[in-house]
This record gives sequence, C-alpha cells and structure tokens, in this order.
Amino acid sequence: MALVDVHCHLTHINFKQDLDKVLENAHLAGVKRIITAGVNPETNRECLELARLHPDIVKCTLGIYPIDALNLKENIEGESGLSRGSFFDVDKELAFIEQNKDKIAGIGEAGLDFKMIKDDLLVKKQKENFQKVIELAEKLKKPLVVHSRSAEKECVEMLESSKLKKVVLHCFEGRKSVIKTAADAGMNFSIPAIIGRLQHFQMLVDMAGINQLLTETDAPWLSPVVGTRNEPANVALTIKKIAEIKKMTAEETANNVFMNYQRVFE
Ligand SMILES: [Zn+2]
Repeated sequence: MALVDVHCHLTHINFKQDLDKVLENAHLAGVKRIITAGVNPETNRECLELARLHPDIVKCTLGIYPIDALNLKENIEGESGLSRGSFFDVDKELAFIEQNKDKIAGIGEAGLDFKMIKDDLLVKKQKENFQKVIELAEKLKKPLVVHSRSAEKECVEMLESSKLKKVVLHCFEGRKSVIKTAADAGMNFSIPAIIGRLQHFQMLVDMAGINQLLTETDAPWLSPVVGTRNEPANVALTIKKIAEIKKMTAEETANNVFMNYQRVFE
C-alpha cells in the first residue's frame, strides 16, 4: 500500500530535533512520498534542501503565503512559526521559483486568506499576488497547491478563469455550492488527517469523486489528536476515513489516491 502526504511543512521549527525519526515513522506507515511546502524565501530554500537530502521520499512545492507576502509590520496570525518575519519581494521570489522549476513538484502554497484581512487594499494586494502565482504555474505547467482560508469562493473564481489544469485545494473549507463548482471544474482536494474530527471534510469527500482526492497532513498543524504534533504518518488515518465514506477497502483507496498524486504531481 503506497501512501502520500501532498502537503506539510517539514521546515517547521517543531521538526528540527527529530526529522529523521518523523521520516522513519512515515516510511513505516507506508508513506512513499511527502511534499513539503515552502511559504516564503527562507522556507522555500529549506524545502529545496530537504528534497535534495531525502530524494527517495521528500519532494517540495515552493510558494508565497498570502499573509507573509503582504509584508505587514505587525504579526498577523497566519501559519506562524514559519514566516519568522522574513520580508520579501514577491517578484524576486517568483523568479527564484522559476529558476528552480526542475527541482520542484509544484507551486504552493499560495492563495488568498481573508480570515484576518478585511482591508480593501490588502485584499486587492493579495489577489494581485495570487494572480502572479497563477500565471507562473500556467507558464511552467506545474500543479498549484492553494490556500483559501475564508476566501474559498474568490480562490475558485480566480482559478476557474485561469488556464490551469492541475489545481489542489488544500484543507478546503468552502461551502457546498463552492465545492460543487470546484469539483465540476476538475479541481482536486487534499484531505487532512483531522477529517475524523471534522464533519466538513467528510462531507467534502462524499461530494468529490475518488479521482479528485489526495491526502495531506499540513503537519505540524491540524493534528488528529488534540494537543499533539501532527506528522506525515497520519495520512493513514485519512485513507481509513475516505475508504469508509466511499465504501472501498483501505488498499483500493490508497492505491487510487496514490495514482491521483502521480497524475497531478509526477
Ligand atoms: Zn500549509
């Protein structure tokens, strides 16, 4: 049985001490591929390095996190612990991603996040940045891993009007009508290991076709067990739940999801 974690953050400080153990746990659980996602200049470079050091299991996507890319002075709660306050130039970073196009599985994470951002100008700026990322993914013909917190409808609209063929909506929290639009447009959904605790993702799995589903952890966040660190090995739990919902065996489900991964990322 081949498992895959298409989205996590192995560069996070919480993995500094025991990354080898985390990779070993994943291997023992049957995980064949882990895609670690960069969110800014610092983590993009670290992700490339991890993929270079562990070519048998780790791949990476490079991105610009929508909040980080605003270069705000005050620290707004985003995927904090990742950004470490590193300022960056969006155009320069997109050029860096392009330079490394042969070393990456895709682009992301990138997208829109309106949870803490209500200011019109900052919303506009996020959309401009995301449009640049979409255009780069189109140009490089790479899959795009999308963050869409509290901006699901806006993200899907922008993606629908693009020429992108391979879109992965990560931890997608959109309502039913938006899920349907995205599913009809052929977008993929990566389902987090926290699915057992969140009815929303169970509904999402039910609505999407089995060929549109991927598994992820977003580790170290979104642990299936409250108060513990999440890690890639936990995608096994997602497979179990998807199998239950789709009335398939865990093995059939895992093989199907792995084929989806290969179709999108390899
Ligand atoms: Zn993430």
